[in-house]
Amino acid sequence: MPESVFKDNLFAGKKVFITGGATGMGLGFAQAFLNHGAEVFIASRKEEKLAEAASETKKKFDKKLLWKTMDVRKNETVEDVAEFLSSEWGELDILVNNAAGNFVAPIAAMSENAWRSVVDIVLDGTFRVSKACYPLLRKAKNGASIVNIIANYSWNAAPFVGHSGAAKAGVLNLTRTLALEWADDDIRVNAMCPGVVLTDNVKQNLMIDENTAKMFEDYIPAGGVTTPEKMAQQVLYLCSPAADVITGDMLIADGGQWLVGNAFYQMGKKFIDD
Ligand code: NAP
Repeated sequence: MPESVFKDNLFAGKKVFITGGATGMGLGFAQAFLNHGAEVFIASRKEEKLAEAASETKKKFDKKLLWKTMDVRKNETVEDVAEFLSSEWGELDILVNNAAGNFVAPIAAMSENAWRSVVDIVLDGTFRVSKACYPLLRKAKNGASIVNIIANYSWNAAPFVGHSGAAKAGVLNLTRTLALEWADDDIRVNAMCPGVVLTDNVKQNLMIDENTAKMFEDYIPAGGVTTPEKMAQQVLYLCSPAADVITGDMLIADGGQWLVGNAFYQMGKKFIDD
């Protein structure tokens, strides 16, 4: 089990649903919850990735990961998942809205389809999944928790990833709205903002050479480029009893990257210019 500051059985008996949980950070969150006693369900589009994640998790930790295909852009598949969870668990303690799509493109060169597709996954998808899971979250016995995964350009400009920036900004606003609307249902809603996290996606698309990797490191004042396991600790904290007075908030876990200026501007420019 990877190093964790939390006790092994912290989430014993808890039911956790993570969107986009077959790869990258989502899989890191899934395995961390499993390793702390929770039952975990993941859903995304590609069946082979989901099956691979489940078999890797079984091999590595001897834990069972439940899964089903779902496209957050298609409401019927989201409803399907909610029905499945209703019959399987009857309630839901924790929802992590992690699924996302993104690619570098300046607005002037972005098609309407490209814009719509990212906003549909990130913002509309968070709305659809949260709404479909609301009846189950209300049934959680000791209060429920939603964590929405955002980015540090959610409250800043998002040069060259404008579709994702606008969508994540919407998710941050939705986080605060739901925190108030669902407070009486004992559902806390927070956002977690990762720094630069070394997932396969980031390795393949951003860390294209040594200089680029160094440029990312140089933009992060504390902690450097980080890991899904470290980011999982932030999500676990937000869902833990220690955080039961925290709602409508965001936990920025980016090593102070956003404080030193809009790193995405310089980074994005490099990608556009090359
Ligand atoms: P990732 O490995 O690409 O994970 C994204 C997941 O979303 C994939 O498993 C993908 O699975 C799923 N997904 C995409 N479109 C979907 C759809 N329409 N319906 C359902 N699932 C869908 O990326 P990651 O780096 O781990 O990122 C995880 C989260 O952290 C994202 O919200 C991202 O914006 C955020 N973030 C990442 C970083 C970083 O440095 N990595 C920094 C800041 C924020 P399928 O393709 O099979 O559907």
